[in-house]
Amino acid sequence: MKTAVAQASNSSQSEVGLEFVPCNLCGSADSTVVLRANTQAADLRAAVFACTSPGVGQHGTIVRCNSCGLVYTNPRPNAAMLDRLYAAVEDPSYLEEEDARLATFRYEMQRLAKHAPRGRLLDIGAHVGTFLRVARAAGYEVSGVEPSAWAARYARETHDLDVRPTTVALAGFPEESFDLVTMWDVVEHFADPQSELRDVARFVKPGGVFALTTMNVGSFTPRLMRGHWPWYMLMHQYYFTPESLTRMLEKAGFEVIAIEPHVRIIYIRYLVSKLHAYSPVLHRLARLATERTGLGNLRIPVNLGDLMTIYARKV
Ligand SMILES: [Zn+2]
Repeated sequence: MKTAVAQASNSSQSEVGLEFVPCNLCGSADSTVVLRANTQAADLRAAVFACTSPGVGQHGTIVRCNSCGLVYTNPRPNAAMLDRLYAAVEDPSYLEEEDARLATFRYEMQRLAKHAPRGRLLDIGAHVGTFLRVARAAGYEVSGVEPSAWAARYARETHDLDVRPTTVALAGFPEESFDLVTMWDVVEHFADPQSELRDVARFVKPGGVFALTTMNVGSFTPRLMRGHWPWYMLMHQYYFTPESLTRMLEKAGFEVIAIEPHVRIIYIRYLVSKLHAYSPVLHRLARLATERTGLGNLRIPVNLGDLMTIYARKV
């Protein structure tokens, strides 16, 4: 498995902080490469780990566990390096798209209300507090944790939200104190998602609900697009299917109650900005066209079937 990232790892392990890891779900070290790295580990930097990351289409070596089928990046940046990168993320361009994200979360909130009791809500990876604002307006008593110091401060100072710049385990919340815990587009970023989900379980009341969104690598779109699937990115360490995430949740003490496709509402200009990774020329033409016509300001719902929301109940 001599790939670009693997070679970089061998030559400068301490500098780039890559490590080979066993399967996070079953512990097996036996895996098959499904996608070879197409970029150098030196490309790892805080900008790549921002929500509006430009690193679409760049990824490390991605493998599938021969024992349980979990798909993950291997080697991947070590946990200390990921912590450093996420703590340093500053992402002001996220704020430009916040209207569309608010619309996405309002839509998600309606579906969540069907599954989740009102009460105390914790959002993990709360970023600038976009979802917490929606949840607070819906009547929840809200708190959040967020590794990026910049984002947590923004949420506190701009929106008066209780967002703590740390992890759920270290945030100081009483155990079994939340009726609902949410985690939007976060679980795929962790170095050790199994241990993070166990941490989450400690803070959910018995019978409380945990809702999380991630990509679905078992869906039709990645099978069709293969290496061109835009969610294969350096910042994504895990690529779950409904089956692998269900198993991981069960091991952490949850039972899955529903799995639904996740619909995102986005501006057309955001779609256009993503074109840059594929073709700078096409990107420039599309940007000109959408700017002249004002089409870029249109919001559209997007559901390619490759994002999922899983609702689970603490056993
Ligand atoms: Zn496995």
